Amino acid sequence: MNKKNTLQAAMFAEMQNKNLFRKAKNHAFDYLEGAFKRTIFPTETALKNLEKFEETMPEKSGDGAAIIDQLHQYGTPATIPYNGRYFGFVNGSMIPTSLAAKNLSIYWDQNAAMHIMSPITAKLEIVVQNWLVELFGLPKHTVAGFVSGTSMANLAALTAARFRLLKNKGWDVTEQGLFGAPKIRVVTHTHIHSSILKAISLAGFGKGNIELVDCDKHGRIIPEKLPAIDDNTLLILQAGNVSSGAYDDFATICKTAKEKGAWIHIDGAFGLWAGATKRLKHLTKGFEHADSYAVDGHKTLNTPYDSGVILCQDEEALVSALHTSASYLESSHQREGMYYTPEMSKRARVVEMWAALKYLGKEGVDEMIFEMHERAKEFAASLTKADGFEVLNEVVYNQVIVKCASDELTLAVMNKIQELRECWAGGAVWEGQKVIRISVCSWATTSEDVARSIKSFKEALRLVQQYQKAEII
Ligand SMILES: *Cc1c(COP(=O)(O)O)cnc(C)c1O
Repeated sequence: MNKKNTLQAAMFAEMQNKNLFRKAKNHAFDYLEGAFKRTIFPTETALKNLEKFEETMPEKSGDGAAIIDQLHQYGTPATIPYNGRYFGFVNGSMIPTSLAAKNLSIYWDQNAAMHIMSPITAKLEIVVQNWLVELFGLPKHTVAGFVSGTSMANLAALTAARFRLLKNKGWDVTEQGLFGAPKIRVVTHTHIHSSILKAISLAGFGKGNIELVDCDKHGRIIPEKLPAIDDNTLLILQAGNVSSGAYDDFATICKTAKEKGAWIHIDGAFGLWAGATKRLKHLTKGFEHADSYAVDGHKTLNTPYDSGVILCQDEEALVSALHTSASYLESSHQREGMYYTPEMSKRARVVEMWAALKYLGKEGVDEMIFEMHERAKEFAASLTKADGFEVLNEVVYNQVIVKCASDELTLAVMNKIQELRECWAGGAVWEGQKVIRISVCSWATTSEDVARSIKSFKEALRLVQQYQKAEII
């Protein structure tokens, strides 16, 4: 054999080497077996063992099986399973069928940019777009782009808003750019998510130009404090405050702002899903009058990472902003995924969303989201003042914020909870106070998980107080 081709020959052999793929699969199965039972955070040994990856890059090509073994031996123990007792950030878990579908599609290794590159992906993008539009009760002409998460969906939405608002003033931003363009006002509120601030800066609006509106104690915009809205205005609202879970009052705000000619964008990373349920739908009342929405699959819907959607009622604006022109809309009868997202080449991430929605059905979506809400309420009901905790928010959705008697104590208790590894919750600052934030974001959280976690919260407080007492003596 030609010496040059030994690597190619080795890879042909690896492609046929079912043992290599079986090995990966077996390791994955091992992981899954323990993932929903094991302690949440890696042990100190597992973290220490990450040093095994500190190698210089090999000179020569390696052995596939050994590489997969190393990844499993030292990588798997240093993962964090987002199982039923993980309440950090707003990190969703994974629905088994959705994970399995992702697995199959990973072997397909499709490029979702164009129909001609992957007919199955284009088909599923249309199907899921229609399902989402129906599920959220949005107008039929609403389109969806499948992106990596809400950060990217927010950015895509803001570029669509920029295109439309300026186009209405006779300015084509895709050709003429922003320099010298009519000014667009950006109105949002003090509790908006940091990814919106990032999108505002990336889209060239400038964070310094934001007209920032005050919020009430729940973290909702105060409608009476809104400045006069006009047809130069981009108004950004939120479905689901990242700490309190609170929703802006879309019913009061959206219809009138729309009538004044504003573009309304709603960041609903995890909260928009309330609008897809029967029992929590009231939270999103009036949201159908907005123009664009950002929502994640990988948070409350529990698809694997990374999965987000930009939904936009103005197809021409979205496609014009993300593509060079919307003229293809007249000529093409195919779904071209790349026209609806900032990226061109991308994986077929719609597959796992299709599988999640098909598996759950409308009733399953309602049940899963409502049960997360119920578990959050169980947390709030059990963390009482008598036990040394105080819940600071009204639990309208899946988020609970709780504190102890002082900032120092809250922080120490949070650290102790993390150290105990029974469950995992992170911190935040709410109205100037340090808090522990609990996000029930996994289909797997049972009432037993909540009870076990509350026990750990109480134990953490007891241990911290015991330690403090000992220090005083
Ligand atoms: C998580 C979150 C985002 C960012 O979403 P990613 O999927 O992490 O990009 C934006 N807004 C809110 C309210 C969030 O909770």
